[in-house]
Amino acid sequence: MTLTDEEIMAQRALDQIWEGLDLIAQDCCCAVCEGLLVVRWNSKASIPELVCGTDNTHEGYIKEKSYTQLYKAGYAIPLEVINNLQRKGVI
Ligand SMILES: [Zn+2]
Repeated sequence: MTLTDEEIMAQRALDQIWEGLDLIAQDCCCAVCEGLLVVRWNSKASIPELVCGTDNTHEGYIKEKSYTQLYKAGYAIPLEVINNLQRKGVI
């Protein structure tokens, strides 16, 4: 199968979108359930899309909080992380 220049360019653009969404998926979580995000192929729109890995009807994503932010918000975090943050003077 031979691809035309336009098809090759379109494929490269899709690859870049896919990579960009992958980076967002690594850094963020679902805005509804804070679950993992996954990149999947939307066959109706013929584009990759970012969806919640738990429930694909969930919409939106948020930046995952750091251990420091979680600790300051009152969440339990691993003791060794607390010790490290205290040693560094972060908390
Ligand atoms: Zn979700």
